[in-house]
Amino acid sequence: MPEGREHMAEIQRIPRTLQDNEAVIKRGLIQVWEVAAALADIREQRQYLEAGFKTFEEYCQERWNFSRQYAASLIQAKEVVENVREQVNKSVDTLSTRVDKLPENEKQARAIRQATKEPAVQAEVWAKAVEDAGGEQPTAPQIREAAAKVTASKTAPPEDEDDEAEDAGPVDEFGKRVPECLGEVFATDSEFGELATLLTTVKKRINALCSGPGGRWLHRQDMLDDLQNLQSAVKFGKPFTECGMCRRDEQKREKCDTCKHRGWVCKRAYEQHDAAGKAWLEGRE
Ligand SMILES: [Zn+2]
Repeated sequence: MPEGREHMAEIQRIPRTLQDNEAVIKRGLIQVWEVAAALADIREQRQYLEAGFKTFEEYCQERWNFSRQYAASLIQAKEVVENVREQVNKSVDTLSTRVDKLPENEKQARAIRQATKEPAVQAEVWAKAVEDAGGEQPTAPQIREAAAKVTASKTAPPEDEDDEAEDAGPVDEFGKRVPECLGEVFATDSEFGELATLLTTVKKRINALCSGPGGRWLHRQDMLDDLQNLQSAVKFGKPFTECGMCRRDEQKREKCDTCKHRGWVCKRAYEQHDAAGKAWLEGRE
């Protein structure tokens, strides 16, 4: 955190020309992708543990004061930029236009990703958008327009099956895909899994220690009972499925006690569902 402060002190309010200011912005935009790459690394290699944090979420929040969602969307955007860069380099001849630009901001990257998850098509969409923007950086709406044209020109319908197979996004405990607004919630599934694994390790360690010479004063059963509570809390508290009582209806959700206005439930809350609620969950697409 001290580094951040020093940095802030460096930023001075001196009058600058438009070019100066734009150069600053450009540099910052490039740095965004570097930040995203660094974050992805920290998450993948679980370096947040090294920094003394238990979860990536905690790390992002405490260390940098931004949410895991923000970090995740930044990382996703970076992946789009990488896809586009790779494909643009690879298919100089097949793309409709020569592209010498890459997406500069998250909004652009998100618009591309929303259009398609297929790297080759992402590059095509980007190329078309740049072309339509007269060789300039396209805006997100321009990208969406270009995406519509690109997918319309393809004989196959917009890659539903691909979507399902390759990047279906988070699913609930029934294996059903959750709405986008709950994506971040159900994406924590792996973290819950890691935590459960960790607790199993703790159990082994307790048993080993209790059986050894230095463990005579440990109360094995009490410790194992406590651990059992912890394991149950994790197991029954993790995101289980959508709320079958308010059923994606925002107004009902505001008054919904079953999910406590969250729109999703843990296993315990799921068990409080009535038959109609469970039936709705089963009948979902
Ligand atoms: Zn609800």
